Amino acid sequence: MVAYFSMEIAVAPEFPTYSGGLGVLAGDTLRSAADMGLPLAAVTLVDRKGYFRQCLDPITGMQTEEPQPWNPDSILTPEEPVVTVTLEGRPVAVRGWRYDLEGVTGHRIPIYFLDTDLEQNDPKDRTLTDFLYGGDADYRLRQEAILGIGGARLLRALEYEPTVYHMNEGHAALLTVPVLEQELHGAGLQTATERDLEAVRRRCVFTTHTPVPAGHDRFSGEQAYRILGTERAGMLERFGCFHDGLLNMTYVALRFSRFVNGVAMQHGKVSRQMFPEYTIDAITNGVHAGTWTARSVQAIFDKHLPRWRQDNVTLRYAIDIPENEIVEAHAASKQVLIDTVKAASGVEMKPEVFTLGFARRAATYKRADLLFTDPERLVKIAEKFGGLQVVYAGKAHPADEPGKAKIRRVIELARDLRETPLQVVYLENYEWKLGAILTGGVDLWLNTPRRPYEASGTSGMKAALNGVPSLSILDGWWIEGWIEGVTGWAIEDNDDEAVEAMSLYDHLEKLILPLYTKDTGQWRRIMRSTIALNGSFFNTQRMLEQYVLNAYFPERPAEKIPESKSPQPDLENSVAH
Ligand SMILES: *Cc1c(COP(=O)(O)O)cnc(C)c1O
Repeated sequence: MVAYFSMEIAVAPEFPTYSGGLGVLAGDTLRSAADMGLPLAAVTLVDRKGYFRQCLDPITGMQTEEPQPWNPDSILTPEEPVVTVTLEGRPVAVRGWRYDLEGVTGHRIPIYFLDTDLEQNDPKDRTLTDFLYGGDADYRLRQEAILGIGGARLLRALEYEPTVYHMNEGHAALLTVPVLEQELHGAGLQTATERDLEAVRRRCVFTTHTPVPAGHDRFSGEQAYRILGTERAGMLERFGCFHDGLLNMTYVALRFSRFVNGVAMQHGKVSRQMFPEYTIDAITNGVHAGTWTARSVQAIFDKHLPRWRQDNVTLRYAIDIPENEIVEAHAASKQVLIDTVKAASGVEMKPEVFTLGFARRAATYKRADLLFTDPERLVKIAEKFGGLQVVYAGKAHPADEPGKAKIRRVIELARDLRETPLQVVYLENYEWKLGAILTGGVDLWLNTPRRPYEASGTSGMKAALNGVPSLSILDGWWIEGWIEGVTGWAIEDNDDEAVEAMSLYDHLEKLILPLYTKDTGQWRRIMRSTIALNGSFFNTQRMLEQYVLNAYFPERPAEKIPESKSPQPDLENSVAH
């Protein structure tokens, strides 16, 4: 079986145990694993105080944060075993809460949420599983030790015997330490040889998720030795996991894995340039089709492609669904969006007006304000085509001041433009449900990252399942999903932002809005081909099939079949000439 480790997992909308794309991907992966009946169990932290709820001042656009406490006791099942991880010389007791995710055929995937809030722990250690990505670097390293070391020990205590450990990002890399300990059968870590490391490698798979160097976790040597202890930190240093004197979690995972992959073809290339001494493959991300398709669109899939939930490839045949049914289903999800915007902001959007969506973490490289490089031109475009609506959402990490500044700029602009035909709204607290309403309800999904920083991106895939084409910089998944004028459009990629913005405006003015307002037949065909071509491929079911074939069980022995008793025909001579 496969043990899947992730610092964040978006399990259900009411669990505040994720921050963004990485957690949504992990949740979607597990949902597809459940649909496919894969032998897999997952481990994460319980995050009693969650990530954070975003509050935005409607006038200034200033972001403030509130914790999102939740009560796992009422939803999850406590497990018996308690395991111990020694941190800074102190034993920390860890237990797990179990939640079973059920797939469409009834198969279940257990998820274990690790918790250190136990009476026997030092008060400081009881808070180690409170905040997702909260606290300082010490807190983070301790959390990663709980996740990796505590998680692997807990699975063993629960009598799992994983043949494969999958590290979803470097946060989980310390799981390699207990796997190595297991290989050593009680001999100390200081006795480990390259051969022992090789035995660990046979069992480990690592997915790296970011081409941004700062996205790779690093800790000082002092921290590593103090918190993890001399034996563990010494072993990691000896095996080349320190770089520039820092313990680097990406190198831990790279050193100890037999299969490493990036999350889109382009990201594989970028990762190979970052880590040239390693073999790095690529498996492009996906989204869980059943989760990210709007109700109204689900209904037409159920009617025309009844097996689509078990077998996502079936969505390829969406190409035969009558166009008017897709258009009507989309109109219904657009109305849900309009109602949501009205309730959240008081703004009345119009169903007939072309609507753009942009929602993502407000990291600077995502460039939420590229669309507003030349607001006057955008207003002119809106005037020419009977109006334009833009819906924004996205949280900035609490410590990300430049990201927060981007949010303020969009909100200020929205206010300045209020009297024009260009309506802009910024919705508060982007999370799962809002993400689904946005990707399903807009007419066009916009993505403007600075290349090559978007490792994959998945929100455009959610839009595609709903027949919503993308207008995006050619980065991440879009390099693979883009067929100009069939699944969406590409913004010219240039070092000069003004040129990129110009390309964005030109696409809107000369291609997209004329199609939408005047050539509705062609627009409908684009909606439909977006589902058939991209919905059928960019899903986590296809993605997991690739993990199974390439990463998890690449050498799965064939089942024994009886030997044939008769001689085999000589094929070469049997070909008639
Ligand atoms: C899908 C999703 C993301 C990831 O989208 P990107 O395109 O990778 O930015 C982030 N947050 C939420 C709430 C999502 O639903």
